[in-house]
Order: sequence, then structure tokens, then C-alpha cells
Amino acid sequence: MHADMRLLYELQQLDARIEKRRGELKALDSGEKMRRQLDESRQRLERVKQQHQQLTITARDQELRLKSQEEKMRRLEADLYSGRIRNPKELEALQHEIDFLKQARDEMDMELLRLWEQIETTEVGIKELEEELNELDSLYHKHVEQYLEFKGALEAELAVQEKLREDLVARIQPTAVERYERLCERLGGVAVALVENKTCKVCHTTLTDYTYKRLENESGLITCESCGRLLFDPLLR
Ligand SMILES: [Zn+2]
Repeated sequence: MHADMRLLYELQQLDARIEKRRGELKALDSGEKMRRQLDESRQRLERVKQQHQQLTITARDQELRLKSQEEKMRRLEADLYSGRIRNPKELEALQHEIDFLKQARDEMDMELLRLWEQIETTEVGIKELEEELNELDSLYHKHVEQYLEFKGALEAELAVQEKLREDLVARIQPTAVERYERLCERLGGVAVALVENKTCKVCHTTLTDYTYKRLENESGLITCESCGRLLFDPLLR
């Protein structure tokens, strides 16, 4: 068996650990989805606040109109009861006008009530959205804090493992490392197969006597006849 098979097998185990950590790092949730929710919530709040502002302006406007309408009505009523107008037709016309104004005022009153109700509803909405936003914001910050902590720990661990790999690779013949890496690429990251009872433990094929003899006696890299992986029998020297 090749003198570096034990080290190549170690390298494969280390590579598997590195791959696992890289996968975990990649799978970490940076909180992007939460941040989008937060943005949406903020935009919703902004829209309701604008709506509230618009309704308030409209209500104030309506109040002013209502006031001037009432003043006009009072002036006409004063006229009506002043005794200055005696012509019954004219009096009747005046009464009509007052009635008309009263009806318009009642309608404006109703409209104002509706506006106030809407203002109240938007105020409740603003309060709810602000609470939701605060909650989301605090959750998001907690999440990001945790994410950075996990990320930092994984990166530190990866750095240690990568240094270990560098040291390990330095101890193996470069041609053997090259062969290992090429096979890794081709065979899904598993270039070395353990041999147990003369059987390849990856593809479960029993080695021929010829191959096993070579593994026992030769110092080159011997591969499984079936899956092409480098064979490593821990019981051999
Ligand atoms: Zn095999």
C-alpha cells in the first residue's frame, strides 16, 4: 500500500468536516427575509400616517366650511326675524334658503363625523403598526446579533481546519494529493475507500485476489476495480 494512504484518508475526513462547516456557513440565515418584512412594515406605517395626515387636513377644511355655513345661516335667520322683510314671497324664499342651508349643514356634519371616525381608525392602526414595527425591529436585531456570532464561530473553526489541512497536505507526496483531488472532484468528494475484509466499503465490491495482493505488496496507489477509488486498508502497513 502507498505510504501516504493513511494520511490521504485523514485528509478526506478533514475535507468532509471542512465541507460540512462550509455548508453550515452558507445555510446561515442572515435575516434578509426579516429585514424585508421590517421594510414592508415601515412602509405600511408611513402610508397610514400619510392617510391620517390627509384625513386631518380634510376634516379641518370641513370644519371651516361648516362654520361659515352656520354663520351664513344665522345671518339669514336674523334677517328672517328682523321684521325688515314683509313681503310674504320674499319671506318664503328666505325660509327656503335657510332650509336648504340647514340640510347642507346636516350633510356636512355627517361627513365630518365620518372623517373623525376614519381619523380614529387610522390612529389605532398607527399605534398597532408602531408596536408591530418595534417588535420586528427588536427580533431582527437579536437575529442579526446571533447570526454574526454563529458566523464568526464557524469562520474561526474553518480557519483552524484549513490550517490543519495545509499542514497535512505538506506531509503527503504532491502527486498523491493531486490524484486525490482529481478523484474527489470526479467522485463526489470521496476519493479514498476503506477496505474491510477485502471489500471496498464505498461500493461494496469484493476485491479480486490480484488487486488485494497488489494492495498488500505494492507501494503505489491502488484503486478499486469497480468504483475507481484509492484503496486504504487500515490493517495494512
Ligand atoms: Zn469501490
